[in-house]
Amino acid sequence: MASSALGPRVLLRRLREVMAEPETAQTRLDKIVTLIAGNMVAEVCSIYVMRTGQVLELFATEGLKREAVHQSKLKVGEGLVGMIADQAIGLNLTEAFDHPSFKYLPETGEEIYHSFLGVPVMRGGSVLGVLVVQNRTRRQYTEEEEEALQTTAMVLAEVMASGGFAEVTREAAIDLANMRSHHIKAEGLAEGIALGHVVLHEPRVRIQNMIAESIPDELARLDGAVQHLREQVDALLDGTDAMSAGDSSDVLETIRMFAHDKGWLGRLKEAVNTGLTAEAAVDRVQNDNRARMMRTPDPYLRERMHDLDDLSNRLLRYLTGAVATSARTDLPDNAIVVSRNMGPAELLDYDRSKIRGVILEEGGKTSHVAIVARALGIPAIGQATGLINLVDHGNSIVVDGGTGEIFVRPSSELEKSYAEKVRFYAKKQARFAALRDLPATTLDGQHIALNINAGLTVDMPHLHESGADGVGLYRTELHFMMASRFPRLSAQVKHYKSIIDQAMGKPVVFRTLDIGADKTLPYLKQPREENPALGWRSIRMALDRPALLKLQARAMLMAGAGHDLKIMFPMIADVQEYILARDAVLGQQEFLVSHGHPVPKSLKLGVMIEIPSLLWQLDYLLPKVDFASIGSNDLVQFLFASDRGNPKLIGRYDPLSPAALGAMRQIVEKGKAHGKTVTLCGELGGRPLEAMGLLGVGLTSMSMVPSGIGPVKAMIRTLDQPKLWAFMQPLLHSGLHSVRAELLEFAQRNRVEV
Ligand code: PEP
Ligand code: MG
Repeated sequence: MASSALGPRVLLRRLREVMAEPETAQTRLDKIVTLIAGNMVAEVCSIYVMRTGQVLELFATEGLKREAVHQSKLKVGEGLVGMIADQAIGLNLTEAFDHPSFKYLPETGEEIYHSFLGVPVMRGGSVLGVLVVQNRTRRQYTEEEEEALQTTAMVLAEVMASGGFAEVTREAAIDLANMRSHHIKAEGLAEGIALGHVVLHEPRVRIQNMIAESIPDELARLDGAVQHLREQVDALLDGTDAMSAGDSSDVLETIRMFAHDKGWLGRLKEAVNTGLTAEAAVDRVQNDNRARMMRTPDPYLRERMHDLDDLSNRLLRYLTGAVATSARTDLPDNAIVVSRNMGPAELLDYDRSKIRGVILEEGGKTSHVAIVARALGIPAIGQATGLINLVDHGNSIVVDGGTGEIFVRPSSELEKSYAEKVRFYAKKQARFAALRDLPATTLDGQHIALNINAGLTVDMPHLHESGADGVGLYRTELHFMMASRFPRLSAQVKHYKSIIDQAMGKPVVFRTLDIGADKTLPYLKQPREENPALGWRSIRMALDRPALLKLQARAMLMAGAGHDLKIMFPMIADVQEYILARDAVLGQQEFLVSHGHPVPKSLKLGVMIEIPSLLWQLDYLLPKVDFASIGSNDLVQFLFASDRGNPKLIGRYDPLSPAALGAMRQIVEKGKAHGKTVTLCGELGGRPLEAMGLLGVGLTSMSMVPSGIGPVKAMIRTLDQPKLWAFMQPLLHSGLHSVRAELLEFAQRNRVEV
């Protein structure tokens, strides 16, 4: 075969003409194979389409026997064509018969053709079919020819996916355009069940124009877009632009590396040179990348490939003007947001009346987006690896945040059974609601204070519905994260006052701003850090920028005028930090008094114990505070040096371990010795078995997600605490990795409701 005389550009133009003709799908396919064969000077060109049951069927051919069309079939993995589909790779062979996978199909008459070039027809990571050219002579196809065939395959994929061959590929499309049902078991982050429709947080970009009118124009568009992208990523990394909370600096660093990568850029340009528009070229290279991603066994590399996917999406959005996220778009009712990852502020950007659930490919239980989902009362799931490639906007989906199960495009029976489950869940909730006015007292008569964690005005009705004693943690940063600029004094006063009013006399513990790590403010520039969780965050930032802390303290004191006010400080690492923070608040109180403003009836100041260094300072710290609250999310993360947001570390360490429970026990004991209330406000408190472990070590006060109050109260009312402690004490001195199984066994044996 001589190198193509006409080249891919002409071929693409002809393809477009064929697609515009008012023909049947089969005629079009027949014309297309003839065109490709002619253009590539090949004697054979065939299209195999994937059908239900993972079978590839010969759909059109030039050169092979016509009788074989719709008759010749190969399973995925069978023969050369099946191998291409299975591995999503191209095959370029001088002698097809010599290949170990070669399978002879006598009805096709292909025995006279020796050389073979085949490529997968791919879209969005799935193989729709295989495109093959063959020649009689034993020859090596050039790289350009392989490129040209790939480009053609990509255009074919686009046409197939958009229904261009509807009649003949209907059955295939049902199977392949991601129409099958799927069941995924991932990690439940927030309880609840929802049936709804997929909304991709980052919508897929639909490419309208595949074929270039003018190649120089497309090259210029591509250059401009890449330049823009580089500047954008540099700005993100230098901290001169607001960083989207979902982007970790690691991801951005990789993206920057790719954005400046000559090989990647070269491939994009090559693709444009074959006659594609800039966006089609990005899509084409992205498809190759996805195919490679599917094949690589190395998880690290796969992760980096994911980042390259992110980069391509940014580029595509820029080139097509598509929206960055779905938050401000028209949402369907019952929206289930699906994303690779996302920051809490991004979730808060969605219309709350419409979202019913959130699913992340990454994300763990104590990530802040999970906390926000719980605060919003919507089920959430993390660790749903590979989900994005399986779903499309609008697909029906079932989310079970309790079990971590996801059903994509469920059958109607399954939908029905889940609707039943939703009703059952509601009944269970009703049973917990019946406990609302009963005391949270253990069998041995110990009263346990139960409070809720809150951070939004929408949380406040839960306080009364759940029958909790008060708000044990009010995360003030959520209000800041939702604002478009730093809230002024008056706005802050108004917000805190509305929370106090809605609490209707029940106590509220306000926590001062806890910004940093995954909680970012869009309007606050933060320098990029290697280890943001260990970085310049929270109280550290507040002490360095005392004006922010003072303003917030003043707002709280003004809002709390005439009430009992409680304030606590996050991320305190030593006694001196606590003293500085305390004095900042007391200074504001003095200021208000000296200027004749009304102040709170009483003011109680507390410390969050979430940095392990405090464990060795409790004797000096506790005498100075009014109360202490264990921030177990961070305390456990720092105790085990294990990033709470890192998906790879989820489940590696158990808070129900001798180490973590031993630390809690120590804090409880010191609290008793110094006569100070110790409470806990991490996510642990809201899970009955974990909460049981905490009661075991002596905690008598907890603050949790509102939906935890009922189940935890049910546990408390069936627990004999001294008996549990007697059981746990030796376990805390064991070398066990976790005491979860033992606690569960205790609960079952003693009929504790967990
Ligand atoms: C904690 O760390 O346990 C805590 C309650 O604070 P946050 O989750 O907001 O960091
Ligand atoms: Mg914390």
